[in-house]
Amino acid sequence: MMIGSEQNGDTKDLPQWADCDFFCIHDYAGTGTSPCGWRGRLLDARNDESGTKLLCPRCGCATILRIPLDRADPSEAQNA
Ligand SMILES: [Zn+2]
Repeated sequence: MMIGSEQNGDTKDLPQWADCDFFCIHDYAGTGTSPCGWRGRLLDARNDESGTKLLCPRCGCATILRIPLDRADPSEAQNA
């Protein structure tokens, strides 16, 4: 497969933000390399060997954060 030089990686293969629960912040700050940019659902993420951390299925790093949903219940957000 030909891989194009897309600015944001192959995000077209990822679900819409509205359908995602987690995203990967690996190199999100722009340290010179391309950010991972993975996003998806909890079921798509991996667990590490101890099962206590979520690992990104793309880069394999424990840099997955839950996506804060603005439309979420405010009372639930405060507990996060
Ligand atoms: Zn990643």
